[in-house]
Amino acid sequence: MTEKTYHVYTADETKRLAEKIAKLLRRNDCLTLSGDLGAGKTTFTKGLGIGLGVKRTINSPTFTIVKVYQGEKPLYHIDAYRLEDEEEDIGFDDYFYGDGVTVVEWPQFIQSFLPKERLDIVIKKIDDSDERLITLKAIGKYFDYVIKEIPHV
Ligand code: ADP
Ligand code: MG
Repeated sequence: MTEKTYHVYTADETKRLAEKIAKLLRRNDCLTLSGDLGAGKTTFTKGLGIGLGVKRTINSPTFTIVKVYQGEKPLYHIDAYRLEDEEEDIGFDDYFYGDGVTVVEWPQFIQSFLPKERLDIVIKKIDDSDERLITLKAIGKYFDYVIKEIPHV
């Protein structure tokens, strides 16, 4: 299991890191994003979108659980926040095993549905600043490789 932590200083830096990761992703790859409200999970997802060639603006879905963005590969953006304490499978496999890349905010609420192999990302805010610690944890060989291949931000 490979783990790597990045210290970033701006929202743009977070997006650039995500964009570089996106370039290494294949169909059916899954990323999870954990961290408090306002940590930067959706900001990271915007960077993924740029890397995947998504043209539409990515934002936090307010009432939607899943948003689909078309790019060179589709990006499935799942925000599981509203699924707290629910056990229901709303067809997650259509996304995880669909044509694109899936990113999950608040993955702890759909733990039992997540693919076994994935890249788990934790974003931690430092004080009240724009600084963040972004920790990548690879579960599975391919994501070990992804972490090793990320070029310098
Ligand atoms: P979350 O999805 O985790 O609730 P958002 O991405 O919606 O968080 O919001 C994060 C906010 O913090 C945005 O307004 C973003 O511009 C700001 N921000 C400031 N610095 C950073 C950083 N280094 N990384 C990510 N977001 C940052
Ligand atoms: Mg969000």
